[in-house]
Amino acid sequence: MIRADLHTHSARSDGTDSPVELMAAAVAAGLDVIALTDHDTTAGWAEAADHRPRGLTVVPGVELSCASPVVGDNAVGVHLLGYLFDRGHPAFRAERARLRVSRHGRAEEMVRRMRAAGLPIEWEQVQRIAAGGPVGRPHMALALVETGSAGTVDEAFRLHLHHGSPSYVRKADVDVTDGVRLIRAAGGVPVLAHPLARSRGRVVGDDVLAHLAAAGLLGLEVDHPDHSDEDRRHLRGLAGELGLLCTGSSDYHGTNKRTPIGVCMTEPDVLDMIVGLSTGATPYAD
Ligand code: AMP
Ligand code: FE
Ligand code: FE
Ligand code: ZN
Repeated sequence: MIRADLHTHSARSDGTDSPVELMAAAVAAGLDVIALTDHDTTAGWAEAADHRPRGLTVVPGVELSCASPVVGDNAVGVHLLGYLFDRGHPAFRAERARLRVSRHGRAEEMVRRMRAAGLPIEWEQVQRIAAGGPVGRPHMALALVETGSAGTVDEAFRLHLHHGSPSYVRKADVDVTDGVRLIRAAGGVPVLAHPLARSRGRVVGDDVLAHLAAAGLLGLEVDHPDHSDEDRRHLRGLAGELGLLCTGSSDYHGTNKRTPIGVCMTEPDVLDMIVGLSTGATPYAD
């Protein structure tokens, strides 16, 4: 039985393992397949391809922060996974660059606000922790832990970084329908990440998922640590109605989150369909 975890982050975005360490963790957890889905960047793909342990298949991917079509008053934030796309596709490449630039300005502003509130956090410190990758709140959380403003990453989020906190600044996002189309245009397979993860804020309704399926979405991440059993049952039923694939993954972030690698997995036949539907890239395999 093939064991596949299709959503993980390396230190090229906001995980703590380098791509090589991430692959070693995958092997240690008994995985056969791992997808590398850093936020807004494909910078880890080359390291994964060049240093992949024998026997481990690596599926190159990305995770994009998106806004759902406006339902009611406000857009709802959703995350979109893209697998096996052509990373050189000009429009998609330009979009990832736009998102990274936006993250940079937004993080600078958040640091400015935290400093104005008296917290001893430095922009240089956050940049050092982000190590040149797309900067995110977990890097700011680590900076707050470093200077003693919070005991843990989790506490830093609770005290200073959550959506409602005064220092919070939004970053640019992609309209999720455009995101789906961009990934498809680049030959990739778009899968909506953790659609019912309510702890992160409001979630989209079934009508939006139906709209996205019609726009070219190919799968839903059903088995995810942030989903209850009831969420999973609901999403599985909906995916059946809409003709979408059901994936499972851990959303591993190293020590930035408590979720172990491989806690949720994707069925081998679903993995085969993802690979079969893609035209932009192939998995790194023996
Ligand atoms: P950003 O993309 O900069 O808005 O940051 C969002 C990222 O922060 C998510 O991808 C998660 O990796 C992480 N995150 C959100 N909430 C928490 C939390 N309570 N503890 C640790 N990491 C979190
Ligand atoms: Fe993350
Ligand atoms: Fe996510
Ligand atoms: Zn993720």
